[in-house]
Amino acid sequence: MRQRVSRASIVIVVCLAVITAGGTLEAQTPQTGSRSIAIRAGRLIDPDAGTAAANQIILVDNGTIRQVGPNLTIPAGAEVIDLSKLSVLPGLVDAHNHLAITYKMEPENNIYYLTYVLDSTAIRAIQAASNGMQLLSAGFTIERDLGNNANYADTALRVAIEQGWLPGPTIINSGLIIGTMGGQFFPTPEMAKDHNIVYPEYLDADTHDEIVKAVRQNILFGAKVIKICVDCKPYGYSVDDMKLFVSEAAKAGMKVAGHVQTQDGARRAIEAGIWSIEHSGALTDELHKLMAQKGIWRVGTETPFTPYRGSQQGFERTVAGLKSAYANGVKMAFSTDADYYIPGMNRGEVVINFLLSWKAAGIPAKDILKIMTTNGYKVCDIESRRGPIRVGLPADVIAVPGNPLEDIDALRSVQFVMKDGMVFKRDGVMTPEKFLHGGPVNGWRIR
Ligand SMILES: [Zn+2]
Repeated sequence: MRQRVSRASIVIVVCLAVITAGGTLEAQTPQTGSRSIAIRAGRLIDPDAGTAAANQIILVDNGTIRQVGPNLTIPAGAEVIDLSKLSVLPGLVDAHNHLAITYKMEPENNIYYLTYVLDSTAIRAIQAASNGMQLLSAGFTIERDLGNNANYADTALRVAIEQGWLPGPTIINSGLIIGTMGGQFFPTPEMAKDHNIVYPEYLDADTHDEIVKAVRQNILFGAKVIKICVDCKPYGYSVDDMKLFVSEAAKAGMKVAGHVQTQDGARRAIEAGIWSIEHSGALTDELHKLMAQKGIWRVGTETPFTPYRGSQQGFERTVAGLKSAYANGVKMAFSTDADYYIPGMNRGEVVINFLLSWKAAGIPAKDILKIMTTNGYKVCDIESRRGPIRVGLPADVIAVPGNPLEDIDALRSVQFVMKDGMVFKRDGVMTPEKFLHGGPVNGWRIR
């Protein structure tokens, strides 16, 4: 009896200790680099205005931007980072990718249905951690990660980065893609019925009750945006179905991103007032006009024609689509869907190579840069909290040689990356040690 009492006491003491520790950790300032940092920017770029200012200083304190301007007094003891020979700008955004999947020519012939069968959630989560670092090294400080991420490996990645285990972009993740029966897969009856193989790559929701439940499941398991398959099947979602998605997601302050592959699907999604249309293959000049009228985001996925991917014919269609969207004043994002392995290239290099498509469409460098930054923060619905180099926001800063307002290819050689006030890359070399921790330094309550 005495022993039992003593065990119970120990359990209670341990529980209290955990609660106290958690509360304390959450209240702490997030882990960042040196308390005070001064960045000397040779050329500070404002992508929103399309302007550059010479010899600026950015003062960062505890991970947050405190002052920006010329001739600032550098506090005694501040670490000075000299980027006086570089162009300094806010981080880039890839508004459509899938970090926890990497399909390949070998062995699966780029068929991701097989990748899903071959790669466990665990290995895909580790791939996501690596892909995140590769993208951060290329200057992408924000990634919108839209499903096909096994059993919530995208949530695991986001939480691991936010808790402070490892470096990576800020992740806006969707959890599972919600679709009508089958999602984007075409499983055999025995695989679908006996093994429910569509799940967790897709979450079937056909009725209104199922739609509400599916949205709530994703919210519960850490999604920050809701991704749906509008028209992956002939029995895709109706306008009413999508309005229900929008209202249910809005309860958690979330937007709805719709995969669209047909003109009818696009028309329905526009009528329903969806936040963003993902992919651009189905978007005509007329649909672009409707999107511009209603302010719907075009998250096109403009794959360039390269020796490793695409076709001349497909590329011409892609470029024509970009030109039409630009001419019609549609809200556009830089978004790639680059979720495959190209031998000899890392994920960041595959993504930045999408500049080929934007250049081919004749869009001026300063507009491409604005689309990759300002528009990216907006489509991620994060611009008030992160993105711009603005007093009070987290210090996410990159630097490149040359001037990307004139030559967008300057973005191909990112030399410096700071995330949350911590240097991730310096002189072109990744230096991740400040990001690596043996515990959740920013608090275990982050979910
Ligand atoms: Zn995609």
